[in-house]
Amino acid sequence: MAPVFGSGLAKGLAVTLRTMTRRSVTLQYPEAQPELPPRTRGVIALFEENCTVCMLCARECPDWCIYIDSHKETVPPAAPGGRERSRNVLDRFAIDFSLCMYCGICVEVCPFDALFWSPEFEYAETDIQELTHERDKLREWMWTVPEPPALDPRAEEPKEIAAARKAADKAAAQAHAAAEAEAAAQAEAARREEEGQ
Ligand code: SF4
Ligand code: SF4
Repeated sequence: MAPVFGSGLAKGLAVTLRTMTRRSVTLQYPEAQPELPPRTRGVIALFEENCTVCMLCARECPDWCIYIDSHKETVPPAAPGGRERSRNVLDRFAIDFSLCMYCGICVEVCPFDALFWSPEFEYAETDIQELTHERDKLREWMWTVPEPPALDPRAEEPKEIAAARKAADKAAAQAHAAAEAEAAAQAEAARREEEGQ
């Protein structure tokens, strides 16, 4: 059957009318910012204070794009007669985001909670070398890491909190016992003084 004159135009207009009444799925970025899920993998942030330079992240990274340099430092003994200790001091920590495939392995394997995902994604560069973020820049990303979600109220208490509570209770009990012993000693001293008079 020969096509009816103008049917294509009518179909096109029908599609236009249908989509005009629907909610838009696109955003006028950058004027409108996307609402990203909290676990978005945007950029990796480094909390340097927690890093012990164990090298686990660099070893596990499938792309070999984490660069870490460090040196050893001798720490004097904490008490006289104690032994000197040596510790690693971080000299360089960098991630090359031009190689990173955002797998998240480094964040997962870090045993000391030194790496976190930030949802920030606006760090495109015209020079590829600028995509290697050194430790200062990685640290700056920490400000953009969202707070962890609240614990389920019915969840078991985390081991760390239970251990900290136990240690605090023990310290409080020791302090209480010391205060009681002190008070008893003072009372005894006062009694003896009275008897001596
Ligand atoms: S996210 Fe994956 S590829 Fe990127 S630095 Fe971490 S381990 Fe390497
Ligand atoms: S795994 Fe964590 S603690 Fe170990 S070097 Fe990497 S960031 Fe530092």
